[in-house]
Amino acid sequence: MGEIVKLSESSKNKLAAGEVIERPSSALKELVENSIDAGSSLINIDIYGGGIKKLSVYDNGKGFLKEDLDIAFERHTTSKIKQFEDIFQLKTFGFRGEALASIAAVSKVTVTTKHFSEEIGSQIRIEGGKKVYLKEVPFEKGTLINVEDLFFNTPARLKFLKSPSSELKQCVDIIERCALANPNISFKLNIDGKQSFFTPGDNNLTSAILSLYGTEIYKNLVEINFEFEKGRIYGYFVQPAINRSNRTGYFFYVNRRPVKNRIISLAIDEAFKNNIMANRFPIIFLFIDINPEDIDINVHPQKSEVKFVDERLIFKLIMLAINDAFENRIKITNIQGITHANTDKKELINLNSDEFDNIQLHQNINNKLNSSNNSQKTLFDNNYLGVMTGINNEYTPIKTHQQAFNINSNKQEEIIVNQVVNIDQNDQIKIVGYLFNTYIAVQKSDLLYLIDQHAVHEREIYNNLKKMFNEGSILRQQLLSPIILNLTNKEKIIVLGNLDLFNKLGFEIEDFGSNTIAIRTQPLITTKIKIKVKIEDIISELLLEKDNNDLSRFIDDILKKLSCSLAIKGGDYISDFDKNYIVKLALEENILFCPHGRPTTLELSRTQIEKYFKRR
Ligand code: ADP
Ligand code: MG
Repeated sequence: MGEIVKLSESSKNKLAAGEVIERPSSALKELVENSIDAGSSLINIDIYGGGIKKLSVYDNGKGFLKEDLDIAFERHTTSKIKQFEDIFQLKTFGFRGEALASIAAVSKVTVTTKHFSEEIGSQIRIEGGKKVYLKEVPFEKGTLINVEDLFFNTPARLKFLKSPSSELKQCVDIIERCALANPNISFKLNIDGKQSFFTPGDNNLTSAILSLYGTEIYKNLVEINFEFEKGRIYGYFVQPAINRSNRTGYFFYVNRRPVKNRIISLAIDEAFKNNIMANRFPIIFLFIDINPEDIDINVHPQKSEVKFVDERLIFKLIMLAINDAFENRIKITNIQGITHANTDKKELINLNSDEFDNIQLHQNINNKLNSSNNSQKTLFDNNYLGVMTGINNEYTPIKTHQQAFNINSNKQEEIIVNQVVNIDQNDQIKIVGYLFNTYIAVQKSDLLYLIDQHAVHEREIYNNLKKMFNEGSILRQQLLSPIILNLTNKEKIIVLGNLDLFNKLGFEIEDFGSNTIAIRTQPLITTKIKIKVKIEDIISELLLEKDNNDLSRFIDDILKKLSCSLAIKGGDYISDFDKNYIVKLALEENILFCPHGRPTTLELSRTQIEKYFKRR
C-alpha cells in the first residue's frame, strides 16, 4: 500500500472541527450565534466544568424542522446560502454551515427542538459525529442543544485546553460580548448550576451594560454617536477616570458582530491618549455599522476577525467619533458653569478617504482635545478622587505632600537644589539636587549619581514581596474597614476562582453579593515609604490571557505589576526623609536594576564630566 491514503469522512470532520472548534468558548460562540440567528428573544446558557464537561444552550427561536435536523449535522449544510454570491450579502452570523457538524464530530451532542410550524418536537443524539438516534419527542418551543465531553475522541486537543476556570473565563467573555451586541435578547448564564447573570433583553444597551458590569461603570457612561455617509459609529465609553491596566475593557462590534481588529484597537488607544493616565486603558463599547461591501468578515475561520477595505478611513472615523463624544460630554459640563468654546456640529462625513488629509485631521483632533483639557481636568479630578477613595480609604497620595506645603513646584525644586542633606556624616554621600520630582542627584566623593526614585522603590518592594511569597505567603494587614470593589461578572468569576492566589498575595477576599467583593486585608509591605495598594491592577492582570502551564512566571509577573503600582512614581514629590531612604537603598544595598531590568542609577565620574568640558 502506498503512503498516501484517502482520509476517512470522520477524520476529515475531526480535522475540520479543529479549525472552527478550538475550545469550549468557540463551540459556545457558534451555538449562541445560531440561537441569535434563529430569532430568539431569550437564550439560556449553562456551563459545567469550564464547558469541557457540558455546554447547554436553550433558545426560544424558530426551531429546526425535523427533516432538517438530520442534515444539519452534515458538513457544509446551511440554510443561509444557496449560492456563493450570497456570502457577500449575508446579515446573519453563520454561513459556513460547518459549526454544528464540527461540534458534533468532537463531542456528544443532543439537540431537542420544535419548529414553530410543527406539532411535535424532535431529538437527535450524535456521538463523535455518528448519529445514535433521531426521534420525535414532545417539546414546547425553540431549541435546546447539549454538548457533552468536548474533545472526548481527540485527546490531543483535550490536552491543549487550559484549566476549567480559564476556559470558563473565555466562555463568559463570549456571552458578554454577544449579550452586549444583542440587547433585545435576554441572556441568562448559569455556571455549574448557579445563576451568574442575566440581561433584561429590553433592547437597551445601557441596561445590558448595567447587568453585566454593575452600577459604577453604568453611572459613568459617555455616549458615542457618530454618523458617516455609509454607516454609523456608536456605543459608550466609561469616563476615563475608571480605567484598566490593559485592553480587557475594549469591546467592539462590526455590524453587531463581536470582532477582533487591530485598527479599531489602535484608534481607541490614539483617541484616549490625551485623556487618560499613562499606561492606562479605557473601557469602551464601540459599535460600527458599515456597508457589508466595505468589510471582509471571513479572513478567519472562526469569523472573529474582520478586515476593513479602507483601514485608514476607519481609523480616522473612530478618532472623530470618540472626539465628538468627548466634546459633547464637555458640553454637559457647560451647564454647570465651566466655559468651553462651542464647536460647530459636524457634517456627515463622506466615505472617501482622499478627502481626508491625515496630518490635518490629527492636528484637528489633538487641538480639540487640548483645548478642552482644562475643563476636562476638573471633571476628571473629581471622579478620580471619588474612585480612589472608594478603593482604599487609608491611602494618602504622595502628591498631597506637595499640596500641603503649598509651594509651587518650581520653587520647590530650587529650594531642594540649594539644600545639602547629609545622609551619613562619616560617609560622604550628599544629596545635591532633585530633578523633575523623579531623580535624586547625589554626590559621593568623585562620583555623581542620578537615582530614579521609582525604579529603586519598585525593586525594593519586589524583592520583599518575592521573598515573602517564596517563604509561604505575603504578610497582610487588616483594613480598618473592608474595601468593597465593584467588579464585572467576568472579573468576579476570576477573582473568586483565584481566592487562594489572592490570599497568598496578602488579599483576603470575600464574595459580597451581586457585583461586589469585599477585601479585608492587604499585603503588608515592608518599606519605609507610604504606599497605596491597587487591587484592580492585579485583577486586570489575571484577566489577561495567561498560559496556565507557567504559573511561576505568571506569579512573578503579578508581583512585578504589584510592585510597580505600589511604588512611588516618577513625578511624585517625595520628602527628604524618603529621598534619603531611596539613596540608601540604591547606593548601600546596591539596587542596580528595577524588576523590569531598567537601570536605577546613572553614574558619572568626575573624570567623565571633566572630559566632557574638555578640561582633560
Ligand atoms: P450556519 O450557522 O453557518 O448555517 P451551522 O452549522 O451553525 O451553520 O448551522 C446549520 C443550520 O442549522 C443553520 O443554518 C440553521 O438552519 C440550523 N440551526 C442551527 N442552530 C439553530 C437553532 N438554535 N435554531 C434553529 N435553527 C438552527
Ligand atoms: Mg452557525
